[in-house]
Amino acid sequence: MGFGEKETFRGLNRATQSQRQTGSAIKPLAVLVPGINEKIFTGATIYNDEKTTFEKDYEPKNSDGGYLGEITVRRALESSQNIPFVEMMEQITPKKAISYLEKMGITSLTDEDESLALALGGLQNGVTPLEMASAYATIANDGIYIEPTFYSSIVDSRGRTVMTSKQEKRTVFSEQVAYVLKKLLQQPVNGTNGTATYCSIPGIDVAAKTGTTDENYDKWLCGFTPYYTAVAWFGFDQNETIKYNSQNPAGIMWANVMRSIHDGFSGARFYQPSKIVTAEICADTGKIARTGCTNTYIEYFLQGTEPSQCTRHSGSIVDVNDREDSKNEEKNIIYTDDNNDLELDPDEEEVTNTEVHNDNNVTNENIQDENTQNEVDVPPAQNNTVANDTLLENDVVDENEIIDSPENYENEEIDNTLSSDVQTDEEEDNTEENSTETVE
Ligand SMILES: [Zn+2]
Repeated sequence: MGFGEKETFRGLNRATQSQRQTGSAIKPLAVLVPGINEKIFTGATIYNDEKTTFEKDYEPKNSDGGYLGEITVRRALESSQNIPFVEMMEQITPKKAISYLEKMGITSLTDEDESLALALGGLQNGVTPLEMASAYATIANDGIYIEPTFYSSIVDSRGRTVMTSKQEKRTVFSEQVAYVLKKLLQQPVNGTNGTATYCSIPGIDVAAKTGTTDENYDKWLCGFTPYYTAVAWFGFDQNETIKYNSQNPAGIMWANVMRSIHDGFSGARFYQPSKIVTAEICADTGKIARTGCTNTYIEYFLQGTEPSQCTRHSGSIVDVNDREDSKNEEKNIIYTDDNNDLELDPDEEEVTNTEVHNDNNVTNENIQDENTQNEVDVPPAQNNTVANDTLLENDVVDENEIIDSPENYENEEIDNTLSSDVQTDEEEDNTEENSTETVE
């Protein structure tokens, strides 16, 4: 039956009206944003992923039930390990985390949410997909929160502007903090154990985070590129376990809509501002790597927050900034003008297409058709916040667009907020066999 006819006028708009539990999709907002901005930790800080009882009796579990031991913040984010995020929240304090969430436009938090469970998205009321999108867009927009809107201006028959959209804007954190967050959020997409690897778009940087709630009532994918921010939520209006085969159905939607939207766009990297230090890190200790360290990776730091040298291993310091390859690869590549990069790899398409078994027969084709009709075409050199409720069921409104050009934009990045929701079913158990959250 595909996505069906529009049968309801002014019905429930799930993007703007449904407050849903966010699960881990809130980790970047509630934990990483305040933690990085307040310099409580860096991407390389080590936390212990092990069975832990917080406060008196709070014993969160990891989605796959296993623990990884001492890992960096980046590694904890990659496969969404819960314990380290609760440890981070303990240091940040839920009160401070809430103040950040509110600055990023989240309005539905309550006093009850002032608890460590906030780190994992255990909320009293939940958050709407639109507010999640605008909060993620704050990172994409280099730390500037821009209130979402669905129109830019209203013009009468004679071409006179009757009203223009006024969007509240505020700086929540610096572009440096935003950059560190962007580089961290690429880990679920690019990491071997990433939960959102299927969201990659060839030639374009993608930052993304998944979310799953208890009993699989909600599935989320929140993420952005240098062009657009998008949030997809998948679930039932009345809580019901989502049944699906392997991949997060919200992620499948996100990946298909975003790939399609980016079709024909130039390759793009997240713009690296000044005062960012890149260093090779020993993943065992979270310290600056020496030649004797065997398990190393590249991390990005706010200037002055780099760790000291590894003391567990020996050898001379590895200075990543001296390396030619890192210079060439990571420096401010914005547009490479290689449109061919954006072609979908048929194999990858196949993978994303893994049978979504459900009554409504959601397939990638449907999603792409839907999307093609819903063209979002944004000229470069403008930073836009687009709220786009992709209508896949009986939803009401169909909006595109919004224009605004925040100052502060030296680079030609464009960022739009797109939030899409759908209602269907799927399955997977996040406590037991959550292959999406742990494998791939
Ligand atoms: Zn080491």
